[in-house]
Amino acid sequence: MLFILIRRPLDLVLKNGVVTGVKVRSGNEEFVIPTKNVILATGGFAHNQKLVKKFAPEWAGLPTTTAVGSTGDGLEMAVEHGAKTAYTDVVRMNPSVHSENGVNSSLSAARAEGGIMVNLDGKRFCNDYYPDYTQLSRWLQKQKGSMAYIVIDNKAMKASKRLQGFKDKGYFLQADTLAELAKKMGVPPKALEETAKRYSEFVKNGKDLDFGRQHNLTLDFSQPPYYAVKTQPGIQVTLGGIDVNNNMQVIKKDGGFFPNLYAAGEVTYDGSFRPGPTAVGLYQGHIAAQNILRKSN
Ligand SMILES: Cc1cc2nc3c(=O)[nH]c(=O)nc-3n(C[C@H](O)[C@H](O)[C@H](O)COP(=O)(O)OP(=O)(O)OC[C@H]3O[C@@H](n4cnc5c(N)ncnc54)[C@H](O)[C@@H]3O)c2cc1C
Repeated sequence: MLFILIRRPLDLVLKNGVVTGVKVRSGNEEFVIPTKNVILATGGFAHNQKLVKKFAPEWAGLPTTTAVGSTGDGLEMAVEHGAKTAYTDVVRMNPSVHSENGVNSSLSAARAEGGIMVNLDGKRFCNDYYPDYTQLSRWLQKQKGSMAYIVIDNKAMKASKRLQGFKDKGYFLQADTLAELAKKMGVPPKALEETAKRYSEFVKNGKDLDFGRQHNLTLDFSQPPYYAVKTQPGIQVTLGGIDVNNNMQVIKKDGGFFPNLYAAGEVTYDGSFRPGPTAVGLYQGHIAAQNILRKSN
């Protein structure tokens, strides 16, 4: 029998290390749903600052682009009952998060359309299309105010419906010249003009002599107006979590595993650092379900 749990679980009920039920609340009423097996699939913990501080303090206090339900409930629940955790300090950061009215949006599309990252001195400070987003975030964290602007021109803006959507929401500063844009950004106009001039030479010659950017080296600043969006790092995925065995059964801190408690998706650490977390999560869910079915046949 398959249960899809829509009520918020409060806790697991265990007897001699075996899960016998899940305690839930509906309105003011609390009750226990008896169960033979549980798969925890509650996602990561990026939306729970208490857990971020505890597990990945390097990134505490930063915004996150994860779903609001990434509150680490399953992780906390499992840990309370003696589950082992692994690599909870490992997170994948997004270096291009814009926060406005309590909404955190990934502006990575602006870099993908060729945008460069400049600091408050109006200068680039790294390979702004470096594939390791967490390293990019570390470089960004070292800049004044731990922030950067992504700067693009109108050619880049026109190429992306997603960016146009963000522009309509008012996320971008806009100006007809780079000097005007720099004033709005609060960076030295001469420095921004110099940065753009030097970078467009790199684009023309296909070689970034300063930071070795190889991909999406396209922004030649040929089409005004110019745009800038303020960004900072934010958590995109928490890659550690509940430790599981090959059947996705939750491993106990003191050795062994819970025979009928499984975990899948971002709530787990699965022995890899998940280049594509969604695919790995689906695979884990499949393995857990197969294992449960095998036991009940
Ligand atoms: C901006 C961004 C871009 C990404 N891009 C990619 C990509 O290109 N490729 C890729 O593979 N991955 C990507 N990811 C990561 C991927 O989206 C997540 O790792 C994946 O969605 C995790 O799936 P999940 O089912 O484990 O958790 P989630 O999708 O977070 O689902 C968990 C669910 O459990 C619910 N829940 C939590 N606690 C409780 C509770 N107590 N009671 C009831 N329900 C609860 C939550 O509300 C949520 O609905 C990206 C993430 C972000 C933020």
